[in-house]
Amino acid sequence: MRHAREARPAECCGLLLGSATTVAETIRTPNATDDPNRFFIEPQAHIEARREARGRNLEVVGFYHSHPHSPPEPSTTDLTEASYPDHLYLIVSPATDPARIRLFRLVGGRFLEVPFLAVP
Ligand SMILES: [Zn+2]
Repeated sequence: MRHAREARPAECCGLLLGSATTVAETIRTPNATDDPNRFFIEPQAHIEARREARGRNLEVVGFYHSHPHSPPEPSTTDLTEASYPDHLYLIVSPATDPARIRLFRLVGGRFLEVPFLAVP
């Protein structure tokens, strides 16, 4: 959420690290597109984040990005560009107060919403 607010009006993006049932932490990555309505995780940062995760016995379980001006609803582009089956895709919308977060899993080429519980 902090990353999403800082990146506005651009979209932010990053990786979700954890295990099968828990997202333990996030790693920020640069958004490698100038289009304020898209995100593209910078490839080198993606590789380094995966290495860092492995070094700490965490897995990359998914990705996050923000929708600075719209609800946390996956866009057609989000689905088209989602290329990691069974990974989680978290969307943050800092435009509303309280901000909204939704979590999806890419299954069979579709996003299925995943209920989650946020713990401090
Ligand atoms: Zn999106």
